[in-house]
Amino acid sequence: MFAYRHAFHAGNHADVLKHITLIETLRLMQQKETPIWVIDTHAGAGLYTLQSALVRDKAEWPTGIGKLWEKPHQSAPIGRYLEVISAFNPKKKLTHYPGSPLIARHLIREDDRLRAFEMHPSDIGPLQTALKGEPRRLKAERKDGFQQLRALLPPASRRGLILIDPPYEMRQDYQHVISALKEGIARFANGVYMVWYPEVARFQVDRLLRQITALPIQEVLHVRLTVRSALKDGLGLKGSGMVVINPPFGLKEALEDCLPELTKALGQDRQARGSVTQADAKTALGQHKPGAVSVSSIRKMSSS
Ligand code: SAM
Repeated sequence: MFAYRHAFHAGNHADVLKHITLIETLRLMQQKETPIWVIDTHAGAGLYTLQSALVRDKAEWPTGIGKLWEKPHQSAPIGRYLEVISAFNPKKKLTHYPGSPLIARHLIREDDRLRAFEMHPSDIGPLQTALKGEPRRLKAERKDGFQQLRALLPPASRRGLILIDPPYEMRQDYQHVISALKEGIARFANGVYMVWYPEVARFQVDRLLRQITALPIQEVLHVRLTVRSALKDGLGLKGSGMVVINPPFGLKEALEDCLPELTKALGQDRQARGSVTQADAKTALGQHKPGAVSVSSIRKMSSS
């Protein structure tokens, strides 16, 4: 159960997409004053040392944040993302990468709350250390995030951002995501639920998206970033997607603003493409739309 260590993946292309979506969602939700509860069901270790002996040359950040760091950028969401990452690298050299709970801790306001769950025995200690000192506002526990979600919903302020980001190391995770969403929505229909999923050739991924369309939800945003063509075995991560249930107003526009640039920076071959759709669940969770931005169309755009 504990084979998965996020340290290897910290700052990869999937983290970049997930964390930009998280930062933009939180920013837009914070345009209203009512406090927000951020619930991170699968939080990881918090802060990752990019050159650590643990990851050595298996680290994936060079093909993610490594492609954006200290490079010129145009879109505001990428600028805001880099600003957050810079706060953890004050000497300008990229040495550390913050995971979702530390990004949330960095952005939440005084009255907002962060609840984070992590099961790995080696990752919970650093996470608790990173979130210590303000027990009412920040809390990290070694508990099953799927189960704990039930206990926390609805949050006292009736405003919540729930990030569900399991490793999908065990195939049951796909089913657990659906059960957690079903129960979560029954208790707290207005919550903003963000689910990350890997773009791998597994029937479980298609089933997960299909099952989300059957939930009693109105509006869904679906953002995808494919960075390369599939490997022959179909198993390597060729990209990732985020499903945001009840997306805040303006999220689609923010992601549309940065996806062409992200696709160009992180794309590894001509199959690279990004797309964002917001609609009812059935429409939003369909395949990449013909209008999706691909690396070849960006190259054409920039040379014309
Ligand atoms: N959300 C983090 C981020 O964006 O920086 C990355 C999380 S990583 C993809 C998934 C984490 O979930 C791993 O650290 C793993 O140990 C943890 N995990 C696995 N099963 C869990 C469970 N049932 N409850 C809480 N954490 C779990």
